[in-house]
Amino acid sequence: MKLEGHVALITGGNRGIGLATAQLFQAEGARVAIVGRDAEAGRAALAQLECETTARNALFIRADVTRAEDCQRAVDETLRAFGQLNILFNNAGIIFRQRNVEATTEAEWDATMDTNVKSIFLMSRAALPHLRAAGGGAIINTASYVGLVGFPGLAAYAASKGAVVNLTRALALDHAQENIRVNCICPGSVETEMIHSAWRAYGDVGEAARVWGAKHPMNRVASPQEIARVVLFLASDASSFITGAAIPVDGGITAG
Ligand code: NDP
Repeated sequence: MKLEGHVALITGGNRGIGLATAQLFQAEGARVAIVGRDAEAGRAALAQLECETTARNALFIRADVTRAEDCQRAVDETLRAFGQLNILFNNAGIIFRQRNVEATTEAEWDATMDTNVKSIFLMSRAALPHLRAAGGGAIINTASYVGLVGFPGLAAYAASKGAVVNLTRALALDHAQENIRVNCICPGSVETEMIHSAWRAYGDVGEAARVWGAKHPMNRVASPQEIARVVLFLASDASSFITGAAIPVDGGITAG
């Protein structure tokens, strides 16, 4: 087991990429605290996690990662439940589609930056003392391939994910000597609610799936589990000399 004895805190852990990662981390021996605002989704996620083992090794924390006090409470509750913190997966995110700069409201811009970027600052600030106290640890941030290249109609989202990539590098340099590694993943399209909502808006869901898949050289979108396996790699000793990296997990989309 790659994460035996470890404790992980996962934002956006009540569905999608975060939940798939929580399941994989748990299967690899970790205890996991998952964070989200939707308590019903949190309860459903927790039920899935708790079904997989007999021990109580999963916790749902209802919190809004755009709020400093919620982020501090999420870390405090994790510590209270599990006694330590070794891995922080900053994964919560939102997107407003079909928004160039002129079509983006100030509220949408602020919500995007607060959820996708400020949350990483707030969560990392709250978690770092505990990672340090554990002798080191791993922070993994969810960026996007849209953090590496531009994309039409996603002005705020692309700006936020570009910021995630460079915040990752800054954090990595600041904490390298404390054995705290900080990396980010840059997924292509992943089959979660985030993409399903876009497919529903497209109208013909089957056709939308084909169109979205065709944007990737591998001619398909990813499953959340394919993303989770890369997060596991970055959280585990298998990546012990990797820090400050932005890893594309995009079926080749940024290779061209
Ligand atoms: P989902 O929409 O399925 O999940 C988003 C998660 O973020 C939910 O758990 C949601 O929980 C949580 N979240 C959003 N806002 C907040 C908030 N203010 N406080 C706490 N939690 C919040 O999408 P994915 O699983 O696909 O997305 C995960 C990450 O992956 C995001 O950062 C996204 O940008 C990124 N990504 C996704 C891609 C895709 O194609 N799906 C591609 C590239 C990157 P709740 O609503 O309960 O708060």
